[in-house]
Amino acid sequence: MPLLEVSALRVSYGGVVAVHDVSLSVERGEIVCLLGANGAGKSSTLMAISGVLPDREGTVTFDGRELARVASHEIARLGLVQVPEGRRVFPEMTVAENLQIGGIRAPSAQVRTQRMERSYEMFPRLLERRDQLAGSLSGGEQQMLAVARALMSDPALVMLDEPSLGLSPALVEATFDTVRQVREAGLGVLLVEQNAGEALEVSDRAYVMENGRVVLSGPASQIRNDPQVKSAYLGL
Ligand code: ATP
Repeated sequence: MPLLEVSALRVSYGGVVAVHDVSLSVERGEIVCLLGANGAGKSSTLMAISGVLPDREGTVTFDGRELARVASHEIARLGLVQVPEGRRVFPEMTVAENLQIGGIRAPSAQVRTQRMERSYEMFPRLLERRDQLAGSLSGGEQQMLAVARALMSDPALVMLDEPSLGLSPALVEATFDTVRQVREAGLGVLLVEQNAGEALEVSDRAYVMENGRVVLSGPASQIRNDPQVKSAYLGL
């Protein structure tokens, strides 16, 4: 059974349907990207999965559990976390303090420390900068910290909303390296991206959305190499 299985998801805002009949799945150790133009319904899909949008229909099953009646904070506790668009680290706190906050629900201080050590192993750059204020990190480093902070809750699946938004090409590359590391740690990743070329490089599978619907899905390599798909849906 996939780690995350979404079936016939429908989201509306005040009667206007933004997501129609979307079905998708993510396995452990897999990066799946959700692509599409502005307004295609990608963020709404993520928010519906994480329970932030209560006005949804369809089923979302995570780790064998149906999430329809589960509150968003409880969904996070079950191991499904979302890193929202725009990074949102606490700028006036240090790197270490940001990580500590991410691990606030750890069962003990010892476990929290172990998770911090794991974060620093995964992202040595954060270790070098652990006493630096998060607001003074580069954009790519802040993105790395936002991901590391999410991992402090020891999730099984991470949803990332446009992690490369507004970053320079070198930092975009660094951000996708971060995403690869999350997969290597055995987690599932659901990645929303406008940066289709890069996202398809890093992903195992992809879904392309248009006007609230999934119009195409398959192995990322296949989508990446199909010239018609690239020009019709991805603007590549
Ligand atoms: P982007 O890449 O621009 O973030 P997206 O693919 O993530 O786009 P959504 O943000 O999910 O798309 O938006 C899907 C549709 O739902 C859009 O038409 C949008 O205007 C609408 N929408 C999103 N949020 C709301 C809201 N809070 N109230 C009303 N309509 C909304």
